[in-house]
Amino acid sequence: MKLKRSWAIFFSITGVLILIMLIALISVNFFKQTEAPVKTEREILEEKGIIYVDKENFTTEANTLLDKGYSATEINQIYEYMSDRNLDLILLEDYKDLSAFYEISNFDFSKIDRYLAYQSLENLEMSDAVTRVNLNLDKPFYSEVEEITDPESITVLVNKYHALPSDYVPSDLVTIPGTSLQIRQVALDDYQNLIAAATLDGLNLIPYSTYRSYDYQDSLYNYYLGRDPQSEVDTYSARPGHSEHQTGLAIDIRSSVLSDSLTDADYEWMQNNSYKYGFIIRYPKDGSTITGYMEEPWHIRYVGVEAATKIHESGLHFDEYYDLYLKTY
Ligand SMILES: [Zn+2]
Repeated sequence: MKLKRSWAIFFSITGVLILIMLIALISVNFFKQTEAPVKTEREILEEKGIIYVDKENFTTEANTLLDKGYSATEINQIYEYMSDRNLDLILLEDYKDLSAFYEISNFDFSKIDRYLAYQSLENLEMSDAVTRVNLNLDKPFYSEVEEITDPESITVLVNKYHALPSDYVPSDLVTIPGTSLQIRQVALDDYQNLIAAATLDGLNLIPYSTYRSYDYQDSLYNYYLGRDPQSEVDTYSARPGHSEHQTGLAIDIRSSVLSDSLTDADYEWMQNNSYKYGFIIRYPKDGSTITGYMEEPWHIRYVGVEAATKIHESGLHFDEYYDLYLKTY
């Protein structure tokens, strides 16, 4: 009896153990079979036509974009062309058709509605519409004025939307030898070389207005206001803080035979040669829609040889050059 009972116990324990082993075996096989076909998130995205980008959170981002309604092709282009700053915005905002903007380097997602409105209003190439809206040209002059934070930069952009601080005085003003006029030291050598080259070519150029303080520009602008309506004054005189003359990098230059301008021959020489010395003609003909000023053949601005050469070669206005090549998007 005792023996039979121990055998019974033995057999039931063995039975239970065998059963447990069987269950274990079956479940291992079951999981093995189901594990193999499970695809990685990367594979799922790749099957949809999305090119995997090796960056943190890519699968989360790609799925967010899919949820917003972007196609695989659109997602691939977003990762190929869009800056990180734009990508952050695209991930936050609702779907937008970006097809017109992929190859535009100064595209800013936050301005997309303004680009589209301005492009159709002005019938421009989209790349031009983007640059002009970035310059705020879809808004009235002197609206949304930003104070300049890098006034000492030789490529500082001073225009009707960018103002110098009222107390800004360049730190390196020097007097042009033989005159009582001041410009920045950083521009002096190139300026003197420009004038020497012009002289060699038979030109006789005389500077007549260079650095002007904020207060001087204020009184000048107000003097003009006493003479002409503001809408007219704004086409030829800068409001205080908005004058390039406050940078110490702008020079009004005249021919010896004219009181305040250049002869056609002087101007042509300046167009062909000033960039070699780092100067640009800041307010050329046909530029008023961008600069907001009528043509000023006499006003040259120092930006350094590199920028001046690129501006000369591209035919861009300085404002456009600044937005396209100096500002980061
Ligand atoms: Zn000037």
